[in-house]
Amino acid sequence: MAGRRIDIRGTVQGVGFRPWVYRVARRLGVVGRVRNQPSGVAVEAFGTEEVLDLFIDALRIDTPVSARVEKLIAASIPDEDLDAFVIESSGVGGVKALSIPPDLATCDDCKSEILDCKDRRFEYAFTSCTICGPRFTIATGIPYDRAATTMSMFKMCAACQAEYDDVEDRRFHAQPNACPDCGPALSLIRCNGQVLSDGYPLEGAADLLRRGAVVAIKGLGGFHLACDATDEEAVVRLRERKHRDERPFAVMVSDLASARALAEIDAEEEALLTAPERPIVLLRALGGSRLAPAVNPDTPLLGLFLPYTPLHHLVLAELGAPLVMTSANVSDEPICRDNDEARRRLDAIADVILLHDRDIAMRCDDSVARVIAGTPTIMRRSRGFVPRPFHLAQPVARPVLACGAHLKNTFCIALGDTAYFGPHIGDLETVAALEFFEEAVDRMQTILSVRPEVVAHDLHPGYLSTRYAKARADTTLVGVQHHHAHVASLMAEHGVQGPVLGVAYDGTGFGEDETSWGAEFLLCFAERYERLATFRPLRLAGSDLAMREVWRVAYALLHDAFDGEPPTDSLPVFAEVSSRSIRVVKQMIERGLNAPLARGLGRYFDGFGALAMGRSRSNYEGQIAIAWDQLACDSTTDAYPFDLDRTVTPLEVDLRPAVREAFADLQSKLPPEQISARFHNTVIAVTVGLLEELLAGRGRVPVALTGGVFQNARLADGIEKKIANKTNVLRHGQVPPGDGGIALGQALIADAILGDKG
Ligand code: ZN
Ligand code: ZN
Ligand code: FE
Repeated sequence: MAGRRIDIRGTVQGVGFRPWVYRVARRLGVVGRVRNQPSGVAVEAFGTEEVLDLFIDALRIDTPVSARVEKLIAASIPDEDLDAFVIESSGVGGVKALSIPPDLATCDDCKSEILDCKDRRFEYAFTSCTICGPRFTIATGIPYDRAATTMSMFKMCAACQAEYDDVEDRRFHAQPNACPDCGPALSLIRCNGQVLSDGYPLEGAADLLRRGAVVAIKGLGGFHLACDATDEEAVVRLRERKHRDERPFAVMVSDLASARALAEIDAEEEALLTAPERPIVLLRALGGSRLAPAVNPDTPLLGLFLPYTPLHHLVLAELGAPLVMTSANVSDEPICRDNDEARRRLDAIADVILLHDRDIAMRCDDSVARVIAGTPTIMRRSRGFVPRPFHLAQPVARPVLACGAHLKNTFCIALGDTAYFGPHIGDLETVAALEFFEEAVDRMQTILSVRPEVVAHDLHPGYLSTRYAKARADTTLVGVQHHHAHVASLMAEHGVQGPVLGVAYDGTGFGEDETSWGAEFLLCFAERYERLATFRPLRLAGSDLAMREVWRVAYALLHDAFDGEPPTDSLPVFAEVSSRSIRVVKQMIERGLNAPLARGLGRYFDGFGALAMGRSRSNYEGQIAIAWDQLACDSTTDAYPFDLDRTVTPLEVDLRPAVREAFADLQSKLPPEQISARFHNTVIAVTVGLLEELLAGRGRVPVALTGGVFQNARLADGIEKKIANKTNVLRHGQVPPGDGGIALGQALIADAILGDKG
């Protein structure tokens, strides 16, 4: 007889992993024990050498569907005289493990049950098992146990209890286990509280959706607003009531085949769509589909996702059409959670609410993913991912809370060799958002049993996250530069130590010199960075106003490139702008009045795009940049000229020659498709040229491409292809490239800055 200690890392908690190990062990006649530990699952197994080898092989393959084994390490241990294999409960030995898994999409077995009229869970919207169902969003404390979930108010009936107690059953220790006899129930109400009792809630909701109603649907991590995505009037109504600009709505479809009828889907995109995390996946819409045009006006990008709760499956089956499913909130406030809150806040938006009596303990918005130049990339890491541990190659010396960015905020707690992202909070611009942020931080601290005394925050003094950090008592504060944090997040994702040559291309981030950075070449180490190169800044007249009135950016480009005499007369971008507004902007730029310098690469995309496409306004963040990217044709391979100012430190890319040539192209009526291609080729050439120069003499320092601008596949792919033969190129996958990903970098930089101190 021999013994093995087997440590398994990955997504192995709360996904039915231990019962599965138990069953494999029993089948092979292995004795021993399995338990959760902070980093995953530990097994101590005893049997003959031959059987143990078989056992370990079995653990590597054929794992439960929601589980993901990232690492399996086996070591010999002395034999113990045992007569059975047992599952030890969590927390044995005083280990304060994070035993709460993320929420998991309904599995195939549960889906079959709810669609089988002979099953006792037929059409039951709260069906789940050990490998699927709500987790994080129902957890109220630790350890993850029924008593510490919002299911505690429902007492299991005898049949459910028997499933829960039977180790051979799919529902062994499935904390949210329930059935129509003992679990939560649906109801359909108006916002005034009136219960619509005529008929079955699901059928009633589907019927109203069919007739064009806006229905609020209570989901896992909050409410959605839904309407028939093929009904143009309904979609327009929802857009108006929600005060939603032209940003595309996400659409939920019943299955992969329905998704293929609406968008192009390759193998990688299919894998993202069907993953148990069920993110919204950004795809290219097919022309001529049955989708209402108001779903994604002005862009071929379409966010699709598959059902992830039994309720979604049932509503979609009942309706037989794709559904717009957008977070239920008012403009940019956090997603609705409580039944009463939903009735109050959605009164003017939803016609009816399909709700239920299982409380949401923690809000968690849908996640968003996208395949960028062949790389599956999480753009928003929230439901399905939170609070999954993220392994750190280099452990932190003390627990750190990182407050994240101002827009698309997500915070992060780093603890030992693990980091935990919180849920997507959104833009930290309202009191409601700040309250959500504080509540989510408290919850994560509770479930991790930690209160970090080191708090990392952005350098911007005015951000609510910075003020939150400063208001925490007894903490060591560490300010972290925005783009350094972007690069450090990507370094952490790849487990790379410095130096790394980071290219951070995004919209804006507070720089050490108090100007807005965002087109930065940084040589990054764990605790510091050197700013090697940047772009010539633009004066943004009206500051944030220039984000929407992009003609102001176009004007700034021309003003700079033509030495204060911008040729605006013949340009369509200024056609709808009054000459008075143009005069005011000119003065603001020349006098530097409310016209701060900005270097974000996103502004160059806005400026060139506005100029060449003749568009004066951007109705939401990224609208112009996305349209500009989609427009570029592949046949144009040449680029515009540019200069590099070597007399300054950091080096400064000067795109004025490019602006002048683009203007000449416009004058000679070159199609904007070609101007866009030339612009993109220029940014690629600038980046590659600078990287080659900066890499010289530095050996094979890896290059890290980070920042929201790298959602642009043309850019990411173009740069990577040209630099990949010189050194490793790091791209984002699990950690978002945009501001939703920077908290991880903030945490690691703060820890490195403090070093062995404190
Ligand atoms: Zn299931
Ligand atoms: Zn029951
Ligand atoms: Fe950023």
